[in-house]
Amino acid sequence: MKYTDLNTPNRTIMTPGPVEVDPRVLRAMSTPILGQFDPAFTNIMNEVMEMLRTIFQTTNQWAFPVDGTSRSGIEAILCSVIEPGDKVLVPIFGRFGYLLTEICERYGADVHTIECSWGEVFDQQEIIAAIRDIQPKVLAVVHGETSTGCMQPIDKLGTICREEEVLFIVDAVATIGGVDIKVDEWKIDALIAGTQKCLSIPAGMAPVTYNERVEKVITQRKKVEKGISTETDRLEELDRSHSFVKSNYLDLSMLQDYWSPRRLNHHTEATSMLYALREGLRIILEEGLENRFHRHQLHEQALMAGIEAMGLKRYGNPAAKLPTVTCIEVPTGVNPETVREMLLDQFGIEIAKSFGPLEGKIWRIGTMGYSCRKENVLFTLAALEAVLIRHGAKVETGKAMQAALDIYHNSQLIVHAEVL
Ligand SMILES: *Cc1c(COP(=O)(O)O)cnc(C)c1O
Repeated sequence: MKYTDLNTPNRTIMTPGPVEVDPRVLRAMSTPILGQFDPAFTNIMNEVMEMLRTIFQTTNQWAFPVDGTSRSGIEAILCSVIEPGDKVLVPIFGRFGYLLTEICERYGADVHTIECSWGEVFDQQEIIAAIRDIQPKVLAVVHGETSTGCMQPIDKLGTICREEEVLFIVDAVATIGGVDIKVDEWKIDALIAGTQKCLSIPAGMAPVTYNERVEKVITQRKKVEKGISTETDRLEELDRSHSFVKSNYLDLSMLQDYWSPRRLNHHTEATSMLYALREGLRIILEEGLENRFHRHQLHEQALMAGIEAMGLKRYGNPAAKLPTVTCIEVPTGVNPETVREMLLDQFGIEIAKSFGPLEGKIWRIGTMGYSCRKENVLFTLAALEAVLIRHGAKVETGKAMQAALDIYHNSQLIVHAEVL
């Protein structure tokens, strides 16, 4: 046999996704398949919806995964809401802002953008001023920009969107499960998550949630496939001045009928991925949201302390830092790609490069989900120091590990003091 048994190398994955998957999730994925209308399976679907609501901090009825990578969730929300000619406002501060505009354009939106320099985020007042000025139907914002390691504050935008009758849509792919996001309190109308980032599940599902404001728009555009439902008559009474959603696979009104107790047939649910999602969500609830956010912060701080002690420069405005991704400027004279190659070949560690204007200028290190552990942070710092010395870079030797260990030591003292 030409093809050997599948045998993957051991890796420490410190990228902004995909990240290491908890072994419990991998085990859940080898659970036998169930039919998609089997009550044992639909019960699992309901449990997943319930757990998603907790993680999204929402009471929305609709919280379910779209099958496909994170951008399938982004596209499902956008294509179900946007009709040709609708005005959409996208504040751009990195690569994923452009992805939002790209998808909106494909569905015929009249896209308006505001931009700030990469490595920065907007003052919320700037976005609010643009909402008032442009009067869009939709505001679509990236929360955690993995391309620049920046996080846009979004807690004040929802209130204005309600006042101005704008739908507030958030790409929280890089932050959900690692950073506090309050869907209801922040009045977010629709939000998209990703599995392969802070949820530590393989790529392949995009959990989404949306409220009645979004559902109202979706219902007006509803189309039912012939032969699966008897409700065609009722639908004929709908106001048909609205156009049908341009995608069948990503039409939320169809997906929501499948996730509702009616279980109207649509796609075949990705059984093993749903098992994975269920276990991944269960792990988060066991850890507790607050504990999880603290853990992400702690390891981020240890990593940053180590990087700085080594004498490396962090990229981006520190006040806008995304806690789940740390960007480092490549020191002058160092080849960024051979550093990454050596980390992978000699240590089995993967870190990321960046895109567009930042390609070759920064490295990005993720501290997400199951990858966000003390042993991974210490190993990465030690290896990076060694590789940089090998590359002739000027680094402060022996300081990074001590700085990171100090952070861990001090955090233990704090925990200890709290117990006392
Ligand atoms: C990773 C990422 C995406 C894209 O996710 P895919 O799973 O690759 O489709 C979208 N938005 C943000 C902010 C991301 O970090």
